[in-house]
Order: sequence, then C-alpha cells, then structure tokens
Amino acid sequence: MDLLYRSTRNANETVTASQAILKGLADDGGLFVPSFIPKLNVSVEELSKMSYKEVAYVVMKEFLTDFTEDELKSCINSAYDSKFDTEEIAPLVKAEGAYYLELFHGATIAFKDMALSILPYLMTTSAKKNDVKNEIVILTATSGDTGKAALAGFADVKGTKIVVFYPKGGVSPIQEKQMITQKGDNTFVVGIKGNFDQAQSGVKAIFGNKELAKEMNEAGYQFSSANSINIGRLVPQIVYYVYAYAKLFANGEINKDEKINVVVPTGNFGNILAAYYAKNMGMPIDKLICASNDNKVLYDFFATGTYDKNREFMLTMSPSMDILISSNLERLIYKISGEDADKSAELMKKLNTEGKYDITDDMKAQLSDFYGNFGTEAETSEIIKKIYKDTGYIIDTHTAVAAVVYEKYKKDTNDNTKSVIASTASPFKFTRNVMKSIDDKYENLEDFELVDELSKIGNVKIPNAIEEIRNAQIRHDTVCEVDDMTKTVKEFLGLK
Ligand SMILES: *Cc1c(COP(=O)(O)O)cnc(C)c1O
Repeated sequence: MDLLYRSTRNANETVTASQAILKGLADDGGLFVPSFIPKLNVSVEELSKMSYKEVAYVVMKEFLTDFTEDELKSCINSAYDSKFDTEEIAPLVKAEGAYYLELFHGATIAFKDMALSILPYLMTTSAKKNDVKNEIVILTATSGDTGKAALAGFADVKGTKIVVFYPKGGVSPIQEKQMITQKGDNTFVVGIKGNFDQAQSGVKAIFGNKELAKEMNEAGYQFSSANSINIGRLVPQIVYYVYAYAKLFANGEINKDEKINVVVPTGNFGNILAAYYAKNMGMPIDKLICASNDNKVLYDFFATGTYDKNREFMLTMSPSMDILISSNLERLIYKISGEDADKSAELMKKLNTEGKYDITDDMKAQLSDFYGNFGTEAETSEIIKKIYKDTGYIIDTHTAVAAVVYEKYKKDTNDNTKSVIASTASPFKFTRNVMKSIDDKYENLEDFELVDELSKIGNVKIPNAIEEIRNAQIRHDTVCEVDDMTKTVKEFLGLK
C-alpha cells in the first residue's frame, strides 16, 4: 500500500505527498497526516555509517512517496550543503550528563533551518510535478525563528514570493534585525500589533478565505505555508532524531537497541512530533519529554487531558515557545483518537469556539510516551549559569528550558536513560538574556557588545548569521493591525 496523506478532519480525501506540500493546509482546515507511519527498515549499523544526507534520504523517501530518487536526492543535496557551518549538519555535544543535539548550524542559527533549508526545493519540485503554473506565495506567521529561516530559504527562489508576519515587540532584538534586513525582491516582512497566536490565526484565516483564493488564482498566484503545519517541514525534522541515534551508536555511547529519551523545548509541537514519528518508525526512543516555558498549556494538557488556551499570554525569554495554540498537537490528537477524523474535527472546533477541549480516557491512556513539564524564567536563567560554570558550555534560552525540564524529569522518575536534548537555537540569537543569566554585569552592554563578549567567554566563533546583520540595512518597516493582515497581503501582491 502506498503512503498517501489525508486531513485530520476528513477521512475521505487523500492527496499525494507533493500535493500536501503545495497546499500546506487541507481545504477543511485540518492538517495533512500520512495514512500510516512507515517502518524504517535500515539497521542501526548501516545508519551509523551514513552521512546526514544519506540518513535524510532513507528517512524521507518513506514519506515523500511520489518523489523520484533523483528529485529527492537533488533536494537534499541542495539543502544540506555549505549553508551549514559543519559537515556533520547536526553535531552532538555531551555536557552535564546529556547529549545536546545542536540543530542550529544552518543559515539563521535556529533549528528551523533544518527543515526550511529543504522546503523551498521540496515546494518547487512539487509545483513542477503537479504542473502548477501559478506563482506560489508563501505565507508565514512566526514567533521569531521560522520567519528568518523561511525568508533565507525562499529569498529569490524563482516562482515564489514570501510574506512573513511577526509579533512586533514579541521577538528578540536579534531576531527582529535578522528579519527586517532580509534581502530579496520576493520577500515581505510585516510586524503585527498583536501576539504570535493572533499572527497564526490571521494566517490560517487567509488560507481559509475562498474568495481571496479565487482572486489570487485569477492574478496567477496561490498560497502555501512554510509553517510547521506543512508536512514538508515535519518530514525533514524526523531525520535528525534518526541521525542522533545512529551517531550515539557509532560513538559507542549506547549499545545496539538501547533506548534513549528525547527532550524537546516545545512551542507549536512540530519538533517533538517529529521525534514521535521517529519513534513510530521503529527507532528505540522511550520517553518524549515535552518542555514548556511559562506558557505551559501543554504541561497542563499532559497532566489533565484538558487543553485550555484561555489564559494569560506570557512574554518570556524563550519567545519561540510563547504559544498557546500548539497547531501540530492536532496530529497527535488524530493519532490517539484512533485516526478518527470526526473526533479530531469536533475537538478542534471546540478549541476554536470555546478555547478548550477535553480528550477521552481512552485517548489519554495513549499519551504514556510523553512526559510534560515546564521551566520558569528564574529556573531557565539559573541553569544557563550553572551549565556554563560547570562545563563552559553556553546554551540558549529555549534549550535551557529543556535542560530544566530534563532535571525535573530525572528527579520525578529516577529514570536515568541516556537522553538527547534538542538544542534549538544558538545562544548568539538570544544574547541579552543568555548573558544576563550568566552575570548581571552584562546588563548595560549594547547588543553587539554582548555578542563579542559571548564569543570571548564561551570560546566560540561568532556565527556568520550574526556578523551579517551587524551593519545591515533595514529593508522592511511595515507594521499593521491584526485585522488588516489580508489587506496588507493584497497590497503586496498588487491585488485590489
Ligand atoms: C520554533 C522553536 C521552538 C519550538 O519548536 P516547535 O516545533 O514549534 O515546538 C523551540 N526553540 C526554538 C529556538 C525555536 O525556534
């Protein structure tokens, strides 16, 4: 049976992988999910001898079933090249009793590069395969990191335009500067007077606007998404969990078939869902440890079986996790409902109208793979300082939330299974809070003085992504109200 994709909210319609990538979101507002999770029939011994690109191929071909070998290999080779500052692509660093999987060696120094460096190639290949003549307009809401990674990936890619909405005042100064200095005639960056959830809901509404889709088509455009709701983002993220396991085995850190735990600092639930898919492909992963910041809607969900977004939205020092609607959770809900599209549709409708839903006891029973907890701002600062003092290794604020939750998990459970912590951003991206955590004396330095100081005390080279923006010119200064997002997109595209 060939693997196809269907919507979490409608069991009847199936599409191919390339169609799912092009559409981003299903017509009924649901997310595309594979019709089954394929098994990875490659031994750990074989995997342990493979390069990142080779692992990417054996994993991704199981999901992208309508891509030819040449097409997929060409996408992979174009993505995982010298844009990354290490040939390993995703190195593992052992520190303070855990393995940090550094997912920030790409063009924009956050883990979003892992998928967004390949998505433009998957997208343009999909367009070709499906004989799409329209120009593709990528529409993206960002909590800070997706935006820049998507802009970098799609800038000047023929046949595409990209629009990014970010919460003005809700991202770090470095994140904002990275985005508003973006080059490329096909790029458009807009700050909204609202938070990430409002940006994401606004983008979803634009996708669902049938009238606008018609106008777009007449003008030779169609929308797609670079958010983690796109299956073309999820699939490349499975790769690094398989790669990390193979590397641990190759380095003699684990025995054959020894189980590991994975700790993921979580926002939209995309990264940890990829780990869950890796587990379901047959990788020896035991617990999936979901780390939240003060926006701990997922912690409460795992603890109680109730998802409730009706609460205060907190701005934290890990802004890429400041999210109350974790979109990708819908894919897990679908899975634990026994792939019941009606049930998922019902719960998502509740989320939309009441802002909350409860899962059944049967569904809850299937969440035993997961452990959820959260790190407060103070705990996050403390652990950055502690790991630096103990080991000299400097982690970013998001990774630090995961480190806090990993400690809580060990205390709670006495489980000492070897663990991989997804290290989702370079500390250079969140310099101010990282440096303040290490020592108050950095309080009064300018952003780029902090960068230089971090490089000195951490003994790490300043990444190109940071050097690039030091003196870069600001190219985007549009700010709009949440209610004007549609209008802003139309103006950019020259529609009336
Ligand atoms: C996006 C992001 C996260 C959250 O990942 P999700 O897939 O949305 O759960 C965590 N840390 C950083 C640095 C990010 O950019």
